[in-house]
Amino acid sequence: MIVIKVGGSDGIDYDALCADVAELYKAGKKLILVHGGSAETNRVAEALGHPPKFVTSPSGYTSRFTDRETLEIFQMVYCGKMNKGIVERLQKHGVNAVGLSGMDGRIWEGKHKTKVRSVENGKIKILRGDHTGTVEKVNTHLIELLSSNGYLPVLTPPAISYEGVGINVDGDRASAALATALKADTMMLLSNIPGLLRNFPDESSLIETIPANDVESYLEYAKDRMKKKVLGAAEAVEGGVGQVIFGDARIENPVSYALEGNGTVIS
Ligand code: ADP
Repeated sequence: MIVIKVGGSDGIDYDALCADVAELYKAGKKLILVHGGSAETNRVAEALGHPPKFVTSPSGYTSRFTDRETLEIFQMVYCGKMNKGIVERLQKHGVNAVGLSGMDGRIWEGKHKTKVRSVENGKIKILRGDHTGTVEKVNTHLIELLSSNGYLPVLTPPAISYEGVGINVDGDRASAALATALKADTMMLLSNIPGLLRNFPDESSLIETIPANDVESYLEYAKDRMKKKVLGAAEAVEGGVGQVIFGDARIENPVSYALEGNGTVIS
């Protein structure tokens, strides 16, 4: 089983991705696709007059502050435009894809964090009304039901809280929880970069391999949102996933290329 997570950054070629996924799937590979939608969500949020707000925690992680209105915009873009766009592309290639959010069938379940600590001008502020969380439980039954009956699941945040409220979760870490629960042999995190760069944004400074027992020491190279990918990779390999690959989603055949070992391979 391979869990492929494609991000939501500008520059990602979803046509190329879906063509490659379809080819591998039809050749018999067991795949689950997860996707993001951050850049498009930012554009739609701006257009709707509710611009995105990002917060940086005291430990240096950046995340989207998700009030109720943001959660609704998030659902429109992630579960609507992005998810159905990917499903449509795969259907065109003859793959019977089924798009679901983490709320559907409680695929991704976790704790709802209603407040978040944010560092602003050197001071720590508490923001309330947040709809975020971390995935703690995965409904593998529904995923296996679909994948063992000829459907390719296409998953996206949000997740659902224990109380039944939508929560924004990090897609990379949610993919790690999924890959762990499914005992996947590979998790792939594809974005608009060739992998983890030692000197971001210098693409010639690609880190090609990271030993599984030393992932966290590479956190120092990751800036802002890349940190969550490194953290997700650490969680996946600790959870028993055979390898994690950070790969480039701006190119033709992005999944096959990463599977050949191109990118940052953590094993
Ligand atoms: P996605 O939504 O596509 O999954 P993210 O925006 O969450 O992607 O994370 C990828 C981004 O992380 C890159 O586009 C890049 O701007 C940023 N980044 C920060 N530090 C690094 C690094 N050391 N190597 C690669 N990318 C980095």
